[in-house]
Amino acid sequence: MTRSLITGGAGFIGSHLADRLIELGHEVYIIDDLSTGSIQNVLHLKAHPKFHYELDTIMNEKLLAELVDTCDNVYHLAATVGVQLVVDSPVNTIENITKGTELVLKWASKKSKKVLITSTSEVYGKSITTPFTETDDLTLGPTSKGRWSYACSKMLDEFLALAYWRERKLPVVIVRLFNTVGPRQTGRYGMVIPRFVSQALAGEPLTVYEDGKMVRSFGYVGDVVGAIIDLMQHPNTAGEIYNIGNPSKITIEDLALLVIRLTESNSTLHYIPYRDAYMEGFEDIRSRVPNIKKINALTGYQPKVELDEIIRQVIAYTRDNPNSA
Ligand code: UDP
Repeated sequence: MTRSLITGGAGFIGSHLADRLIELGHEVYIIDDLSTGSIQNVLHLKAHPKFHYELDTIMNEKLLAELVDTCDNVYHLAATVGVQLVVDSPVNTIENITKGTELVLKWASKKSKKVLITSTSEVYGKSITTPFTETDDLTLGPTSKGRWSYACSKMLDEFLALAYWRERKLPVVIVRLFNTVGPRQTGRYGMVIPRFVSQALAGEPLTVYEDGKMVRSFGYVGDVVGAIIDLMQHPNTAGEIYNIGNPSKITIEDLALLVIRLTESNSTLHYIPYRDAYMEGFEDIRSRVPNIKKINALTGYQPKVELDEIIRQVIAYTRDNPNSA
């Protein structure tokens, strides 16, 4: 039996990962300070004999060291998430991401435990050669534009993880998650699908930013956690980087129309310039689509759940949990 530690285990993706590992018969330990996660996400697991949780920050180094020691491997998901939070709290964003990963890698290395680092498709920045491939150059904007601090911090995490692999032979695998969606995701930090679903269910206008022509690919959280576990368990993934997502693409404007159709809402679209949505000079990513050939060749990964079904699940979840938004 494997014992796994999930940092950020009460978050949206972390809690789905905990569910899947428990289903597979693993012993699961989570640590989460509930800064963006919610105890609600793991309430159903609390009584499970193989589920253990610590409501604390990974900056509590003594506790982190103990947990890493107890477990066989570490899924590191704890981080600041969401464009809104990155824009509003840049100091926390940079410090949480870089210091958190530094500590996780330090202790995993001391105890020789395989680590999976969750990076992000944001690292591809504003490159216009989509789909994005793991070996592509990464094209970020200037440091004066706060949005890029998130991508840059995650890039530093990747460099550090790969350095631990090269220099100290710590087995690390890096995943670049593209827009991941499904039940339990909150719209509080900017994420578009829970925001649109809540707005449509309330009969309010859907806030489409700028011209709505931005292109995104949305991956189902259940597909994503399956891929993450396969990569952790695979013997040849150390020192490697993998995109995880669903290459099907849609514009944000079409997404808004789809949400209106699936909720049978009378809502309209309300176009808002970026300066009102985020801040003056905000730079968005026009198109973001993953190339998933690398993970597909290794594990046979293929996304199974498509956007209509994902949105239906988010609608049902939002109806059942009206305070989750
Ligand atoms: N977006 C939007 N209206 C919203 C929230 C987001 O038009 O209320 C847009 C946002 O500008 C981006 C896309 O939807 O182009 C996806 O945003 P999200 O924050 O979910 O993820 P991102 O791809 O920016 O990381």
